[in-house]
Formats: sequence, structure tokens, C-alpha cells
Amino acid sequence: MSELQQTPSANRLHIAILGKRNMGKSTLINALTGQSLAIVSAQPGTTTDPVYKAMEILPIGPCTIIDTAGLDDEGELGQLRVEKTLQVLRKTDIALLTITAAGLTDFDSQLLAQLRRNDIPVIVVINKQDQLRAEPELLAQLHQLGLPHLSLSAQHSDGIDSLKQLIIQHSPKTFEQPSLLGDLVQAGDSVVLVIPVDSGMPKGRLILPQVQTMRDLLDNNVLFQVCKPEQLPTLLANMVTPPKLVITDSQVFQQVAAATPDDIALTSFSILFARHKGDLLKLVQGAKALSQLSAGDKVFIAEACTHHCQAEDIGRVKIPGWIRQHIEAEIEFGFCAGRDYPADLANYQLVIHCGACMLNRKEMLSRIELSNRCGVPVLNYGLCIAAMHGILDRALRPFADVHQAWLDGKA
Ligand code: SF4
Repeated sequence: MSELQQTPSANRLHIAILGKRNMGKSTLINALTGQSLAIVSAQPGTTTDPVYKAMEILPIGPCTIIDTAGLDDEGELGQLRVEKTLQVLRKTDIALLTITAAGLTDFDSQLLAQLRRNDIPVIVVINKQDQLRAEPELLAQLHQLGLPHLSLSAQHSDGIDSLKQLIIQHSPKTFEQPSLLGDLVQAGDSVVLVIPVDSGMPKGRLILPQVQTMRDLLDNNVLFQVCKPEQLPTLLANMVTPPKLVITDSQVFQQVAAATPDDIALTSFSILFARHKGDLLKLVQGAKALSQLSAGDKVFIAEACTHHCQAEDIGRVKIPGWIRQHIEAEIEFGFCAGRDYPADLANYQLVIHCGACMLNRKEMLSRIELSNRCGVPVLNYGLCIAAMHGILDRALRPFADVHQAWLDGKA
């Protein structure tokens, strides 16, 4: 299996190709990816849906190219186009704005302003230099705007290597996800993973956060054992040396905390992902808002993938039930699943997000930022469940900085 196939989409660099029609975006994508056939499927004027393609761009590695052919400046789709563009930008790690030597248009300037607002690094690609060379005035303008840029001919694959170098140079730090477990464990440590198998589990397989955690433990040469919650007491009693860490599915946090001696570190898959995909400190701050909820308040629950709602569904059933019980009041809930995330959350008092294993880090950070801009605190499933069961302090102990901030009241 190639590295491209092994790397989940959420862990690839997301590169959006933006620009007006006829700037050579499709040719640029083909030149970047070394494909000779057009990979663009969006028909001009018929769709605003961007096209996502997994690509190996050497030497960058596995990437997702977002072809925004449907988002350029033709047609009458106004507001819909703007919304789709914003959705793309939320997950974009770096953007390539494609222009020609004719210069920046108003459309390009609007895009640049939006990219700036979203804090997305951008490289201006002056394409078709084989037909028209950029005048010094344009280069000076881009320089003055502080925009990295280069001239190339995608048609002749001339300048593509320099573009790849620029992409490497300007790719943002946020793309590098904090280690899942690398700073918490050492080679030779032992870890116990607790996974309940109930009707909420997909048939015959584990879910991505569990699989990624196991892979990370293997990469770190850590020995691990997996058990169901009811098997944990026996497993711990039979271990000659206690495990360095117990990682549990959040749904059984309370049961696992009760069965795990206090001197053994304990956290959940979801809290590991809060740090890996998002910003653990900011997400912990949402825990305060949880305790301040009162009757009539509204809570928004966001899941980043779609699945059939089960009787014991964590997002739709268990968490709302636990919150109502915890607050002892009627709380109203809103839900979303998959890629759509509302732009306006101001009507809510709190957002509770899943572990976001299917999102790239940029998109999860954008969701946190968007919620915070609406003045709405966010926390994730694992933190929410730990807080409701009074074990948040314990679940944060493995993350020394965040735990200290929590104790100091800074989180
Ligand atoms: S995207 Fe969210 S809901 Fe879907 S498997 Fe990952 S953590 Fe669970």
C-alpha cells in the first residue's frame, strides 16, 4: 500500500487552488501532480462544489488538492458561492491563488482579503508566463502586499519544482499536528486501551481514533493491551507491573475511573484527539460553560462524520441525556453531522464537538475559532463527559501544562 493510501485525508496537507476561470488552474493541478489528464470534474457554471483529490506531491508527501473550479467568478450564484468558498477555506492549510501577468482582479483582491481573515498562507502563482511575462509593476505590487509569488508555465511544467519548494517553505505550523502520544509514553511502557462493544459500535471494526491510537503506540514501541470495560479489573489485577497509562472510550469514563487505581494515569481517546486535532487548552475552557448551563439554554452538538443514529448514540442520545441529568433542567439541543458547520452559533450557550478524527487540524481549529468569534465556548465529547462525571481533573493530569492551567483557573 502506498503512503498516499495509508495516510488518512485528515492528516494530509490541504492545498486549495483558487483563482478566476481561464487562469489555468486545471493545468496547474495536473502539472503539480504529474498527471497528464485533466482531473477536474466540475463543469463550469453547473456546480459550486469543490473537488477533492488525494495526491502525492513529491517531495511534500500525501496532500489533498482542493480544486475550486466551481467557485470562480462566473454565474449568478452569489451567496451560495461565498458560503462554499468559506467552507473550503476552513480546511485549507495553504492556498495557491492563480493569476496571469494581466494582474490582480477585484475578485482576486476579495479572495486575498478572505484568505487573510482566515489566516491562510497564500502563494500567488502567475501562470502562463510562456504567453505573457509579468511586468515589474505587478511583481512590485505583490512584493508590497507581502505575498510570496512566482511566475511559471503550468502548460510546459516550467517552474513547478520552485512552486513545490515555496509550498514547503510556507506551509503553516498548524499543519503539524501535536503528537498523539509521543510525549506521554516511552518505548517499553505498557498502556491499556478500554473499548466498550455496544450497539453504538460499528459492526466488525474499530473506529478511527482507536485505530490511530494503536498505530501511534506501535510507532512509539509501546506495549499495549485492549479490553472491554468489564474486563479491566481482571486485566489490571493480572498485570505484574501497572500500566503507564489507561486510555478509555469516553462513554465508560466513570466506570473505568472507578476501576483504575488513582496512581495510574488515565485519559480518553477523545481528549487525546482534542489536543491532536484542536487546541486542548481552549477546549478545556468550554468545561466552565458546561457547569453554568441553566434551564432553557441551547447546546449545539457537532459530529464530523455521518452515521446512522443508534439507540445508544453518543452524540444524539447519551450526551444530551447526561447533560439534562447533570444540570437537572431542560436544555435544548441542536445537531450537525459531517462537513456542514453553521456559520452562526450565537443562539447557543455551548458547542460540544466530537473528537474530529475525520477533520484535518486546520478545519477543527477553524471550527473552534468560529464558535469563539460567535462568543460561544466549545469543548469536546471526552472533556464534557469527564467534567459531568467529576473526573476532568484526573483526565487532564497526563497533560501537565493544560492541567496546571486548569488548576490555576486559566483554563
Ligand atoms: S469524526 Fe467524530 S464522530 Fe466521526 S468517528 Fe471521528 S470522532 Fe467519532
